[in-house]
Amino acid sequence: MKSIGLIGGMSWESTAHYYAVLNRETAARLGGLHSAPVIVYSVDFAPIEAMQRQGAWDAAGAELARIAQGLEAQGCGVIGLATNTMHICAPQIEAALTVPFLHIATPTANALIADGIVRVGLLGTRFTMEKRFYIDVLERHGLEVLVPDVGVTNLNGIIYEELVKGIVREESRRLYVDAIARLQARGADAVILGCTEIGMLIDDAVSPLPTYDTTALHATALVEAALN
Ligand code: GLU
Repeated sequence: MKSIGLIGGMSWESTAHYYAVLNRETAARLGGLHSAPVIVYSVDFAPIEAMQRQGAWDAAGAELARIAQGLEAQGCGVIGLATNTMHICAPQIEAALTVPFLHIATPTANALIADGIVRVGLLGTRFTMEKRFYIDVLERHGLEVLVPDVGVTNLNGIIYEELVKGIVREESRRLYVDAIARLQARGADAVILGCTEIGMLIDDAVSPLPTYDTTALHATALVEAALN
């Protein structure tokens, strides 16, 4: 099995979930006492978040590309970036590597297509929902993507003010459930939890639509890539 290089810390709360899934999925596939060979580079989220607000995507991308190269130099055979939003920098990171970079939207789209879903709702940060970098990848896989038409500021605020700090509030859960119900009313057949922290708030038990959690799907796909 190849070593997995994971660029995390955005936020560390969701990276902790990645770490658990990487190890559980490796044990499930290899049995016994196997666990995932993984190097996690956990960045300080504050400067990254500041760069997001300033629109300094090239500077953030250069930093993430440098980290990705470091993981490759340490022997990682596949690299993952444990945040949907920062995939805005995916082209810069990919260009810096000779080993595969596994885009988070790829296993997500594959899972939806395998389940026969075409029209899907997307929840994430305002960057993920309002810019094209993420939706374009999903559409290239043949998906039709709906984003919330109201309440984007609140949904985004819950991520940055609560979830990345590990705060899970019932009132916030209700806002997310309402947003999913509105996507359903507009014709979505499933919803992508397109921010790596949303799984802390929403799962299939509370969601009106089937959920596709990018954290679990991406971490599982990284294990599969490392085993191939
Ligand atoms: N983890 C989040 C995501 O998947 C948001 C935090 C960030 O901006 O990186 O988009």
